[in-house]
Amino acid sequence: MRHLRAVNKYFWKYRWRLLLGIIFIIASNYFRILSPQVTGYVVNSVERELRDSLSKRDREANKRPDLAVAARQQREDVKDTANYDILVKKFIRTVDGSRPTFSRKVAICGITLLLLALLGGFFMFLMRQTIIVMSRHIEYDQKNEVYLHYQQLDTNFFKTHSTGDLMNRMAEDVSRVRMFTGPAMMYLTNLLATIGFSLFFMIRKDPLLTLYVLTPLPILAMTIYYVNTIIHKKSERIQALLSSLTTNAQESYSGIRVIKSFVQEKAMFRFFNDNSEAYRKNAVNLAKVESIYFPSMGLMIGLSTLLTIMIGGLYVIHGTHNTDVGTITEFVIYITMLTFPVSAIGWVASMIQRAAASQKRLNEFLETRPEILNPATPLRGRVRGDIHFDHVDFHYPNTGIHALKDFNLLIKKGQKVVIIGRTGSGKSTVAQLLLRMYDPGSGKISMGGTDIREMDLQDLRSQVSYVPQDVFLFSDTVAHNILFGLSGGEQEMVYRAARYAAVDREIEQFEQKYDTMIGERGVTLSGGQKQRISIARALVKDPEIVVFDDCLSAVDTKTEKEILSNLQEYLQNKTAIIITHRIFSLFDFDNIVVLEEGRIVETGTHAELLALNGYYTYLFQQQQQEKEDSGI
Ligand code: ATP
Ligand code: MG
Repeated sequence: MRHLRAVNKYFWKYRWRLLLGIIFIIASNYFRILSPQVTGYVVNSVERELRDSLSKRDREANKRPDLAVAARQQREDVKDTANYDILVKKFIRTVDGSRPTFSRKVAICGITLLLLALLGGFFMFLMRQTIIVMSRHIEYDQKNEVYLHYQQLDTNFFKTHSTGDLMNRMAEDVSRVRMFTGPAMMYLTNLLATIGFSLFFMIRKDPLLTLYVLTPLPILAMTIYYVNTIIHKKSERIQALLSSLTTNAQESYSGIRVIKSFVQEKAMFRFFNDNSEAYRKNAVNLAKVESIYFPSMGLMIGLSTLLTIMIGGLYVIHGTHNTDVGTITEFVIYITMLTFPVSAIGWVASMIQRAAASQKRLNEFLETRPEILNPATPLRGRVRGDIHFDHVDFHYPNTGIHALKDFNLLIKKGQKVVIIGRTGSGKSTVAQLLLRMYDPGSGKISMGGTDIREMDLQDLRSQVSYVPQDVFLFSDTVAHNILFGLSGGEQEMVYRAARYAAVDREIEQFEQKYDTMIGERGVTLSGGQKQRISIARALVKDPEIVVFDDCLSAVDTKTEKEILSNLQEYLQNKTAIIITHRIFSLFDFDNIVVLEEGRIVETGTHAELLALNGYYTYLFQQQQQEKEDSGI
């Protein structure tokens, strides 16, 4: 429960709405609670009318005047109405005051009952309008809070958590918390109001009878709570099975080509079938429990009604108690009115429990602090000057892999530097550290003499154009994907960037050109096309520094040449770090760095490295060989 304290700030934010909702709940209950009293009154009137007409016949038969009748009627009226609500008393006085005929009196009461039901219903409508709407506002705020926090977390968090899964679970958690701030809140207040009002009037009317008739209700509430817990556990299990079933199906759909080519259809189906069978068994089990649930609830309520009529009836017959037929009717209606709220106790309790568990998870998430933080007094402004990796040493925090060892590199402003090396040698790590996705364990990275840890994080990242190794495009149009991160960019800039990235001709061939949707709802791009759009996204910005991480791996040699020659022009006044597996011999780089297991092993220009006759030479020769083999 204590975890749910986190939503108090939202209750406070929407306090007026909440207050209004509570007032509506009380009003709705107030009007509903008046109807048993009016019914009791009308039943008593009917009974009296019958009795009177009988005794009248009696009197006429015996020719004996009964002066006490009028006086008794008066007394009974006062006694009957003594415990009613002020409003009902006033109503009865007005009705009786106008001395209506008997049938007219019944008709007036009938209409009043209808009006009371309408009023109760109207306030219930308003209560839903306020409380449920409030819960939707809270849900919206909470989703935003989660999303905002999500974006602040750093790469390390995303590497250790499966993001899609996390986001799904979080969306579910938020909607469970909404069940607390909305329905549970509403039913709880409603429950308290109904129980409060009914008990008040019941005890006022007949405390002993109240005690008798209410004995089954706590048992009912407890049973419901107990059964609800079982149902909850079972449905949780079913939910888990269903989600694994869905994941399984999804994987089969997206990996269908692999499944087919490895002829694994039967095995996959067997696996799916087993999962499906487990799900079916659990679902049937749940249905069995649920089928006992409602009848047993009906039994308990029936028992209460039975007790009321039996005990009340005995009282009336023996005349030992102050009970009349009207009271019994009134009590039966109270019991019916209490049924729903009492049976909702278990439901509300499990809803609150679930919300608390969800909120606990959300709190844990919201309390995760990003490790990379903006400095307290960040240095703002444009990033310029030399980039200096000063004895940088770095271990990945989650795996402990020693990815960079005493990495020392000075890149002068305007220089174009290549980092080359085997897979896993630490090339991408260099880019990650430069963008402050991680901080180095020891040593420092500076730009223009300033440690990047002292710079404003957003300034730093927005001024380095980065093409990541793993391309990611949004399900949006080509133009929006290219313009991503630039607010208010011009169409002309998009065209130019696409031209630089040598992807313009292909885009022009799409039916809707730059407005073509990418992904599931639009065209499926080839690996190379995706890569080049990702390059265009980086080129559309006009930054001081450019980092390309292996971004030409999926394009052919001809396109590679085209892009490289375009880059010559684009990169003229910029500092560039190009990470690659291949040697781009036609580009005149200022410095080439060869990495091996996180350490710089060779460095120099193309000619210098060839003279060293090391790994670079080996790579170069291999590439030459490939060219000859493929006849280029
Ligand atoms: P490739 O050419 O295949 O892209 P790379 O040179 O870019 O390789 P890096 O990605 O820098 O290599 O990885 C260097 C080492 O750090 C590898 O051993 C890798 O397993 C490890 N590593 C990379 N990213 C992470 C990460 N997020 N968490 C833990 N270890 C990582
Ligand atoms: Mg890499």
